[in-house]
Order: sequence, then structure tokens, then C-alpha cells
Amino acid sequence: MKQYIINVNKDNNGNNEIHTSDCYYKPEEKNQKELGYFNDEIEAKNFAKQNGWSNADGCFHCCRKAHTG
Ligand SMILES: [Zn+2]
Repeated sequence: MKQYIINVNKDNNGNNEIHTSDCYYKPEEKNQKELGYFNDEIEAKNFAKQNGWSNADGCFHCCRKAHTG
């Protein structure tokens, strides 16, 4: 399992991007909120959407299966 975090700030597309805790492209620490440990980014994204992050989207680099734009 991997640890996932979400960017509390929206990107240019209006999405809150999800990253693994070891992604090079994750936001700086003050802009991160921990989501927890999941088997993959699909699970992490589903969890985020169920917990108020309706614009959650996977990072292109570390969460490609959950990346839509
Ligand atoms: Zn990432």
C-alpha cells in the first residue's frame, strides 16, 4: 500500500490533485492533506471524493490510473 495526499489548492483545471507521499511533484507540505494508505490511486480518489474533495483528480506522474485532466 502507498500513502496518498491531496493538494488543498486547486490546479489550473480546478482539480485538487492526489499524489503519493513520495511523488516529486507533490505540493509543499502546508498545501498537503493526508488521505491515508490505499492499494492504488483509484481507491485514494474514491475516498477523497467521498470526503468532500469532489474535484479530486490523480497526478499525471504518480497516479496515472486516476488522472483525467
Ligand atoms: Zn504526483
